[in-house]
Amino acid sequence: MGGLGVKNITRFNMALLAKWRWSLFHQNDSLWARVLYSRYGGGTNLCAQSSSRRDSIWWRDLLMVCGGLEQDNWFERKIKWRIGSGARARFWLDNWTGPICLASVFPRLFTISEQQNHFIQDMGSWTDSSWVWQLQWRRERFEWEIQLEQQLMQQLLECSPRAEQVDSWWWLGEPSGTYTVRSAYSAITSEVVVGSNNGAPNIIWSIPAPPKVKIFAWRMMSRGLPTVDNLASRSITISDNDALCVFCKQDIETDYHLFCTCSVVDKVWKVCLSWINCPTPLPRCILEHFNFIPGPIYQNVQVEYWRTVWLVTTWTVWRTRNLCRFNDNSFCFDSLVKEILVHSWRWLSSFTKTFRYTFSQWCSNPGLCLCRLGA
Ligand SMILES: [Zn+2]
Repeated sequence: MGGLGVKNITRFNMALLAKWRWSLFHQNDSLWARVLYSRYGGGTNLCAQSSSRRDSIWWRDLLMVCGGLEQDNWFERKIKWRIGSGARARFWLDNWTGPICLASVFPRLFTISEQQNHFIQDMGSWTDSSWVWQLQWRRERFEWEIQLEQQLMQQLLECSPRAEQVDSWWWLGEPSGTYTVRSAYSAITSEVVVGSNNGAPNIIWSIPAPPKVKIFAWRMMSRGLPTVDNLASRSITISDNDALCVFCKQDIETDYHLFCTCSVVDKVWKVCLSWINCPTPLPRCILEHFNFIPGPIYQNVQVEYWRTVWLVTTWTVWRTRNLCRFNDNSFCFDSLVKEILVHSWRWLSSFTKTFRYTFSQWCSNPGLCLCRLGA
């Protein structure tokens, strides 16, 4: 490891795990890959798998590093798809047309698509050696959705599959286009460094939480989440209807609105703060919100616990937002709060040595569990 100059074991571990992902993708016909796929479920794309409790820790870690819609996709951002027959890239969910997947660019169309998890090859057919897209919808489209579809078609003009070729990845971190642990580690690290320049504090990495959530937090604070305003800053425009916050349906979705000022999310914060009898803060940005430590919390360990609760809350808001936006789920305030309680308890129990409350103790009085320590 010395030669790599590894300083951060979490990031190094991510880079190593991602190498498995790379190899699984490129050697999917090899015996070992076939054994893994048959053991853990079919399909050719690791991201399409969902984790189950019966899976080995290694496999779960691998899935975690691969990420899904709700988390940072550092790996996806470092690869470029080269589309062949379209047998391996998912039409809506993989970033094969540009830096952002089509589901994020056209969330409304994605919602009404009958082919949400389809691979590109299943989204059309060859007619007289030219490719014809055949998109299917769950229902009749509104006029404005038809216009969106035309925009999508415009974007697809230059992107037809190439028969006889295989889909592959080009690794942007190396001139050769092949994955190396060294370049992945330095990619993750340089993003972190860029993140700190943008204001994401290094303290994120020591909060008791799963690595994927820390990456999510880092990305949120570096303004890297695909919220409507962040997409707009990358010249990706979203139709008016989709630009609204999924919770309050009143304001345009910006990251600041979504995590801090949205009237619905503010109520969520009020619940968390009511555990320790503290009013909601009025911060001017996400970083200030993060740095706000409620009065009753002052010992180091308590601060650590509070930060976990903060991460759980923002992460749950983001997950819920994605489910509402992409899966058309309806939003339920009580289950969001319940989810925050469950995850906070899980993470504090597994990522700290000092937190020793039962789940029912935690649920009946979270404030007491957060503050009692050392008092
Ligand atoms: Zn809102």
